[in-house]
Amino acid sequence: MNKQLVIALGGNALGNTPDEQKQAVLTAANHIVSLVRDGYKIVIVHGNGPQVGMINLAFELAYQQNSNVSSMPFAECCGMSQGYIGFHLQNALQNTFLKQGLSTHVSTAITQVIVDQNDPAFQHPAKPVGLFYSEEAAKAIEKEKGYTFVEDSGRGFRRVVPSPEPVDIKEKGTIRCLMDNGDVVIACGGGGIPVYREDGFLYSVDAVIDKDKAAAKLADVINADALIILTAVPRVAVNFGKPDQKWLERITIEEAHRYMAEGHFAPGSMLPKVEAAVKFVTSGTGREAIITSLENAYQAVTAANGTIICS
Ligand code: ADP
Ligand code: MG
Repeated sequence: MNKQLVIALGGNALGNTPDEQKQAVLTAANHIVSLVRDGYKIVIVHGNGPQVGMINLAFELAYQQNSNVSSMPFAECCGMSQGYIGFHLQNALQNTFLKQGLSTHVSTAITQVIVDQNDPAFQHPAKPVGLFYSEEAAKAIEKEKGYTFVEDSGRGFRRVVPSPEPVDIKEKGTIRCLMDNGDVVIACGGGGIPVYREDGFLYSVDAVIDKDKAAAKLADVINADALIILTAVPRVAVNFGKPDQKWLERITIEEAHRYMAEGHFAPGSMLPKVEAAVKFVTSGTGREAIITSLENAYQAVTAANGTIICS
């Protein structure tokens, strides 16, 4: 009882626009409330792809129109997305708890995730963000700001940022404290705001941390019992989308490694989830990870219905 769960919410739990998001978070809250009622202690991590894109785009467009508007660093855009999504999730969860007579509190932690300045990802920025530019405009911004641009499939030049591995969670103590207090905590939104340490101090850096990897790191450092990754599919499959597709129920770390090596999981979607699951399970004893759909969250946790990754 009182098992501690870190739940990672995928893009389908949030939608793409503010209106869609307000509706979607209510659905997400309805799937989480039964777990809270059963006494599980929960930290929620969410994605932010479309949201941080929208915020970043708004500032870039405003800056193009009016040079009095300052351009907004990507790390700051991530912080804004944590606030905006956290507000919606927090509000939806609070209203859902109220409706069901639960007195559980909800809080959102603006979260900084520590990355290593020497992470090889910094030599190979690969995650495209923001507007498309002409080659000349891209070159000018490269010179002015030191950003890296790449040609994106014939559509123009686009900024790329690195995607480093999460090393530690700065606010882990606060998150742990809130969870021990019985709060549902929303943390590490969008994978967290990437920061690096220099001479003991923390500085932000424009990068994107994979939210499933950040969730796994958080689950590890707060010593959670399980990592629950909720996405658009009820299970992980081998031969996904092929005639011989097979949904997986319970797999060991060894099997997960074999399937990864055989290329069953798409990079950028299912692969980081399986990698995150493996990392969490192998980082301690008695830990398990589940990958399933939002709709199936309760069944997954209470009746092992989903893809379970265990040692
Ligand atoms: P999220 O927003 O939840 O992170 P993603 O789109 O990044 O979602 O990743 C989940 C998607 O990965 C699934 O909806 C599915 O289309 C795709 N996928 C790729 N390979 C697999 C696989 N082997 N088994 C199941 N789903 C897979
Ligand atoms: Mg994803």
